[in-house]
Amino acid sequence: MENYSSLERDLSDMKAYFGTGKTKEASWRQSQLKALHKFLLENEDQIFKALNQDLGKPQVEAFRDEVGTLIKTLNFVTKSLKQWMAGKEAKLPRIAVLSSAEIVAEPLGLVLIFSSWNFPLGLSLEPLIGAVAAGNSVVLKPSEMSPACSSLLANVLPSYLDSNAIKIIQGGPTLGELLLKQRWDKIFFTGSARVGRIVMSAAAEHLTPVSLELGGKCPALLDSLATTWDREVAVQRILVAKFGACAGQACITIDYILVEKAFISTLIPLLKAGIKKMFGENPRESKSIARIVNKQHFLRLKSLINSDPKVKESVVLGGSFDEDNLFIEPTILVDPPLESAIMTDEIFGPLLPIITVEKIEDSVKFINSRAKPLAIYAFTKNKSLQKRMVAETSSGSLVFNDAIVQYIADTLPFGGVGESGFGKYHGKFSFDIFSHHKAVARRSYYTDFWYRFPPWTLKKLQL
Ligand code: NAD
Repeated sequence: MENYSSLERDLSDMKAYFGTGKTKEASWRQSQLKALHKFLLENEDQIFKALNQDLGKPQVEAFRDEVGTLIKTLNFVTKSLKQWMAGKEAKLPRIAVLSSAEIVAEPLGLVLIFSSWNFPLGLSLEPLIGAVAAGNSVVLKPSEMSPACSSLLANVLPSYLDSNAIKIIQGGPTLGELLLKQRWDKIFFTGSARVGRIVMSAAAEHLTPVSLELGGKCPALLDSLATTWDREVAVQRILVAKFGACAGQACITIDYILVEKAFISTLIPLLKAGIKKMFGENPRESKSIARIVNKQHFLRLKSLINSDPKVKESVVLGGSFDEDNLFIEPTILVDPPLESAIMTDEIFGPLLPIITVEKIEDSVKFINSRAKPLAIYAFTKNKSLQKRMVAETSSGSLVFNDAIVQYIADTLPFGGVGESGFGKYHGKFSFDIFSHHKAVARRSYYTDFWYRFPPWTLKKLQL
């Protein structure tokens, strides 16, 4: 589909193919899932190379967050599909005597998937797996900002798949806008709130259902914790979530931490020691931290610190930038001004502000004064604070004493709320988001209650 002039014809062919019913067959769905599995196994080295080229992603991260996670998903979906496809029995009210009912999952039709560049394989294939498992035809447009991965997806993956039903096309906003003018049965979008708004307005034209997987600022509350052991475990988990997952370029990374003022003097040495343990004395030479995706994002991150003297003064660890290698040192800031860009915009990079509060319980009010995040993390053993977090805050996910682990769970819905988006996927939720759950009811001709038919005498109300 490189030739955009043939787009409308290609889409019309795809709709016709969907109309044949081929993609609804369980065997077709399983064959495509198997093909995706084969693609991942046979091209693992090329995938690692492409992820390294686009993002300097270390191989362990590339396996953990993309190849390995996708293989896990494929195994789970392949194993569960038969059960998901089987209709689910339901009950009808007594008035429909001698009846049966079921809920049948049917594919939506031709669906469009837009993905982001930070996990270019994962964010493209995780929804594709759901769409194919549900029996849809799919057009996938990966991000132009991770060109090596997009090219691998568009040039190598199609030879594994049924190209009558699944197409992968490369392009940026111009192609995106062209695609949005077409009529789809579903649009699944991962990206920024800015483009999410464009997607949603375009979808309104055809009343197309939309899922928006967006981002925002995910806070982590860090209680003072009672023991050195707990503190070190918490710090280690915070550091790997922030700096050890695409260098903070992740939608569910920790954007900033909330801690009690009195805890800062204990925390900074722990963070310093943790960073040294993970990335060495000189992180610039570390092979364990990804690079910033491109110069534009590098300069955006640099200006978050350098364009505001008060923010610059708040840097307590790191703070060095190497433009030639698109490298940013893991950087910790304490109390940058709350109205500065680093505290109002999503950071999406290896800069970690710490905001101090008098009492850790004040964090709840702080979090609730801002947009609903994609994820909230709370490192605390305080049961009553945990209860308050569950009851009083709202976010796509809420994790106690760790971060990012929710992403790999097939059993949990993944998605946002409020400004972090809407629509849940992963595991069975992916199957559901790409399905229409049709109500099917069956009646017998045998009998009926007399009072369900006119004439409407008041006697019929008294029953
Ligand atoms: P983006 O919105 O710039 O791009 C996303 C997709 O939209 C890309 O495929 C891009 O080519 C396309 N696009 C860009 N402009 C368009 C236009 N005018 N019309 C149509 N399509 C257009 O976002 P990004 O830079 O790729 O990603 C960063 C954002 O995504 C962050 O906010 C991050 O938090 C969020 N994100 C969310 C998740 C999640 O799962 N919730 C995952 C990764 C990233």
